[in-house]
Amino acid sequence: MVKFANRIQPCDNGLNDIFSYANDPALISFAAGYPNNQLFPQTELQGAFNSSLTDNINLQYSGAAGLLSLRTKIAQHISSQQRTFTAAEILLTQGAQQGLDLTAKLLLNPGDGVVVEAPTYLGALSAFDAYEPTYYEVPLHDDGLDLNALQKILLTHSVKFIYTIPDFQNPTGSTLSLAKRQALLRLAARYDVIILEDSPYRDLRFSGQSLPSLASLDTQNLVISLGSFSKILAPGLRLGWLVATPQLLAPLTELKLGNDVQSSTLIMNAVDQYLDHHDLSAHITKMNHAYAAKMTTMCAALKHYLPTAVTFTQPSGGFFIYLTLPASVDTGQLLKRVVLPQAKVAYVPSASLFPVSHQANGIRLNFTNLDNSTIELGVKRLGEILTRALTQ
Ligand code: PMP
Repeated sequence: MVKFANRIQPCDNGLNDIFSYANDPALISFAAGYPNNQLFPQTELQGAFNSSLTDNINLQYSGAAGLLSLRTKIAQHISSQQRTFTAAEILLTQGAQQGLDLTAKLLLNPGDGVVVEAPTYLGALSAFDAYEPTYYEVPLHDDGLDLNALQKILLTHSVKFIYTIPDFQNPTGSTLSLAKRQALLRLAARYDVIILEDSPYRDLRFSGQSLPSLASLDTQNLVISLGSFSKILAPGLRLGWLVATPQLLAPLTELKLGNDVQSSTLIMNAVDQYLDHHDLSAHITKMNHAYAAKMTTMCAALKHYLPTAVTFTQPSGGFFIYLTLPASVDTGQLLKRVVLPQAKVAYVPSASLFPVSHQANGIRLNFTNLDNSTIELGVKRLGEILTRALTQ
């Protein structure tokens, strides 16, 4: 019998279930956070990969920080009125996911405090768990983190970093307001805590004005910020980025080297070529139109079919809508016992998205990878079954 390290807990957080639902053709799955296959710029990426393969240097090692010309383009992409970024502040990663792992690896000793939004992104908990943190949950409102609750935690506990998804949060869809962004930075400075800003959905805004990133507002070098090509190009590329000050970036780059040496030269070069020859902003605009229509369809169907005891969020971007059921309902049990077998619909139940309180009465729904009629049919089936379950 192989003995795992003490810190490895038996894993039953549902992540594998989420992927298996997505691959089951008999189900309508609102579970996984997949972008829409039809919207990948496949032909353009094919051209970019072909052209990369004409030069054998793109099959060579190229350094842990990642391709300079791609880091320069990312720096331009994330620069704004508030702040100009440079390639020297950027590390290329295997998706934003690797940035979560590297940050936790750099900062956490077993037992160290980590503040998370409640609910939060399951994959972040999977990454952090390996470093055995003590989690503190902060409730979320429509305009993001409850800063009074956060301050109480910072006053009474030692915390290494605050993990936040400020734009179109996974799973709730909520966005941190500008005033709260500024107040959060002030709190982090006062208590000398790092903020880990995870923002893979940032560019996927359907309405309203984009808000400055926490990294762009940070004057105290307290923010590590993560971005990704997964939702704006394709997740199969496994390419993301981490933005931090040189003081943090140097050890993070060392850790990246020890982890996987570097990101793929070929993939970094192909994405760089794609950006040289195609208009990423135009592609993002096209996606936002398509996703906005899907979200509108889902919200209209939810309004029509859900029982009134269930409330839902209406985000202005991103991938997810969050349902809140009466406090006594366990949506995990409901999924396994009733919704999967009878309605043939899958969703993410909330218990594992709350690492401390395990609140079980929430549901995360994704709307990006289904067509409008399937979204309607899935919500109809879900609504009917929830109506029956809640009136029994
Ligand atoms: N952070 C959040 C909030 C996410 O939703 C995801 C993807 N579901 C990730 C990070 C990881 O994304 P990537 O594919 O860039 O690793």
